[in-house]
Amino acid sequence: MSYKVIVIGAGVVGAATALSLVKERHQVTLIDRDSPCAGASFGNAGAIVNGSCVPTAMPGILFDVMRMLSQPHSPLTIKPSYFPRILPWLLRFVLQSRQGKVVENSVNLHALSVHAVESWHSLINNTDLSSLLRETGWLKVYEHQQTFAGTQKSRELLDLVGTPYEILSAAEIQDLEPNLAPIYQQGFYQKDSLSITNPERLVTGMVDLFIAGGGHYQQFDVTSVEAKSDGVTLEGPQGQLSADKIVLTAGAFSGNIAKQLGDSIPLDTERGYHLMMSESNKELLNRPVVNAEQSFVLSPMDTGLRMTSQVEFAGLKAKPNYDRIRALLPSAKRMLPAVDTEEQSAWMGFRPSIPDSLPVIGHSTTSQRIIYAFGHQHLGMTLAAVTGLTVADLIANRKSKVSLTAYRANRFNTL
Ligand SMILES: Cc1cc2nc3c(=O)[nH]c(=O)nc-3n(C[C@H](O)[C@H](O)[C@H](O)COP(=O)(O)OP(=O)(O)OC[C@H]3O[C@@H](n4cnc5c(N)ncnc54)[C@H](O)[C@@H]3O)c2cc1C
Repeated sequence: MSYKVIVIGAGVVGAATALSLVKERHQVTLIDRDSPCAGASFGNAGAIVNGSCVPTAMPGILFDVMRMLSQPHSPLTIKPSYFPRILPWLLRFVLQSRQGKVVENSVNLHALSVHAVESWHSLINNTDLSSLLRETGWLKVYEHQQTFAGTQKSRELLDLVGTPYEILSAAEIQDLEPNLAPIYQQGFYQKDSLSITNPERLVTGMVDLFIAGGGHYQQFDVTSVEAKSDGVTLEGPQGQLSADKIVLTAGAFSGNIAKQLGDSIPLDTERGYHLMMSESNKELLNRPVVNAEQSFVLSPMDTGLRMTSQVEFAGLKAKPNYDRIRALLPSAKRMLPAVDTEEQSAWMGFRPSIPDSLPVIGHSTTSQRIIYAFGHQHLGMTLAAVTGLTVADLIANRKSKVSLTAYRANRFNTL
């Protein structure tokens, strides 16, 4: 059966969803208030981490947060005026750090991420876009044994769900990345992960494929939405649109729209930053490398070397503060001595985050015409293709690879 479907939000999740749906011959309109890939999908580190399963709220997170907030160059900040707003979210987040919840969240994250790479291949294979995905693996490096030892619980989760990884010696790190300073004693390597050489080109390329496949793109800012028994109506400054079904993929901005539809979901944003450094740096690394001690990533892109970092709780409206990521430039130089740290551009984006580190994927609690697909936190590039394909299963009323119970919209109603 073919439906008239509107997908709201043309980030990586919306683009992957729209492409999956148009392949199944639905009449699909992808809308965005801005141009495609204007949100978080533009500026990330581009890692597709297969089998990723470590939720952000791990045992001991409360102490980690308090310690980080007191450090001068901390990767975590909370804007003081935003503290009262984020407090309920943080309390839920801390509750998710209990051992039983951590294991449950890890298993449910893995149930999606184990399909990450195969889903990307299935969505864009045999198109020019597949050349944007490189088989580089995902590498984290540790200067101090003590920091590496602190990842024991994360490695136990990986072992539990069966995600493969290798522990590398100093010499093995140098073999993979000869330009890194020889200061790293231990490495952690997920060999079967991919990296995206240009996230923006991947997303806009998917939108182009979607249009070539018969889809329609429209600039439209959704301000209100109403689901009735015979269809769904969207309103915005550009007028009115209607459809049989809608898919909400507006990333960190999905909360208000879901609320209008009767679902109050604890979605907030972990703001993150990047700095682009000169194009001349792009051959220095073969893959994204995480500096584990200082929580930043150096990711080689076809436009230059990108440094990504920071989790900032400051909501959707506060201005960016680039100083914190700029303060990491000396650390980037220490890590990669040949790097030219001259800044080409700076960016801030909104990770869409829910306290249990799981997205919402599934029907709204009030209407089978509404499908949610948002809240992919630190893993939206990883999980977009599997999400898009899963939404297509849902609309076709087919059994999907992944059972969706854990990602339901009302899972926080009792907490
Ligand atoms: C610094 C940083 C590094 C990251 N690194 C990685 C990584 O290496 N690997 C990984 O897997 N993930 C990574 N992520 C996370 C990833 O980028 C996000 O999870 C992902 O981009 C979210 O995609 P999305 O499509 O849900 O949201 P977005 O890309 O934000 O797209 C949402 C879209 O909805 C539109 N929209 C919003 N409101 C409306 C409205 N009312 N009407 C119409 N349109 C609307 C917006 O304009 C936007 O285009 C990183 C994130 C950051 C910030």
